[in-house]
Amino acid sequence: MPNKNLKDFTLAELQRLAAKPFYGAILFDWLQNKAAENLEQISNLPKAWRTELKNNGYGIANLKLLKRTDDPDGTRKYLFALPDNCKIETVLLNDAGRHTLCISTQVGCKMACVFCATGRLKFKRNLSAGEIVDQVIQIEKIEKVKIQNLVYMGMGEPLDNYDNVLKSIRILNDKAGKNIGARHITISTCGVIPGIARLADEGLQVRLAVSLHAATDSLRAKLMPINKKYPLPDLMRALKAYQKKTGRRLTFEYILLRGVNDAREQARSLLKLLGGVSAHINLIEYNPHARAEFQPSAKKTLREFWWLAVDRGFETTIRYKRGQAASAACGQLSGES
Ligand code: SF4
Repeated sequence: MPNKNLKDFTLAELQRLAAKPFYGAILFDWLQNKAAENLEQISNLPKAWRTELKNNGYGIANLKLLKRTDDPDGTRKYLFALPDNCKIETVLLNDAGRHTLCISTQVGCKMACVFCATGRLKFKRNLSAGEIVDQVIQIEKIEKVKIQNLVYMGMGEPLDNYDNVLKSIRILNDKAGKNIGARHITISTCGVIPGIARLADEGLQVRLAVSLHAATDSLRAKLMPINKKYPLPDLMRALKAYQKKTGRRLTFEYILLRGVNDAREQARSLLKLLGGVSAHINLIEYNPHARAEFQPSAKKTLREFWWLAVDRGFETTIRYKRGQAASAACGQLSGES
């Protein structure tokens, strides 16, 4: 395993590292577009420079595919081993020829949301920028597809690994590489306020999705312990400031749990909370995982919730279960395939 993984570097950093900037551009192209697995493959770079890189601890680390699980609905889940043998999962969603990749940012997660399989895992470590980027490189190579949309919604809380997540976005957004448009990239957070404030100043056109799942502090704190640190009034203030600065619409994710957060009164509280915010509401059908203690709401309840939100003028969608059979659905990733 190299000390310094070249996939962790932006194009500009590789250009600075190289004796001549165009060597850096060749290296970036091989890493991003040709999925180079080792320096020996990069035959159009001088051997002397490749040897120098190696002698200085630089190299190419690769995720290793351990297993692919296919769901009948077309969703595919991939279990990857990292160079230190930690495991992560990545999910590919196929929609009428469009490919969306749901990527992981941490091994495990500190946030312990009670409905989430990842939240039951002990947090082990952050992924490096290169390990986040490599999920896209490997899937494009394995499946021979072009990823159009990227969602930072896999294992881990992206804003708890802020620097590496932002760097991975800059690498994946680079026109000389994967060239995934910022508007096609969504960061999903459970509500880490300092990260939201930093993101507002980045000047990036990415989408921000907030996992809300309850509209009162008492219930949200039970479902999502992060709410004790960053309660709803503070979170909403931070989100309004984010919106003022970026002018971008926010997405709010709300998983409907039977008898927990799906009553009409709770729908009304949610809509009141989101008053004055330019918001897209995404109502999510709950996917029970192996050790789940919750049940999904009835389809009728989901539709009623949807109708109340639409009636109040919110753009609202329902995300029905996908990848259920492969345990690839939202909140089901456990690295234990
Ligand atoms: S829902 Fe997201 S933030 Fe919460 S435990 Fe799961 S992975 Fe972590």
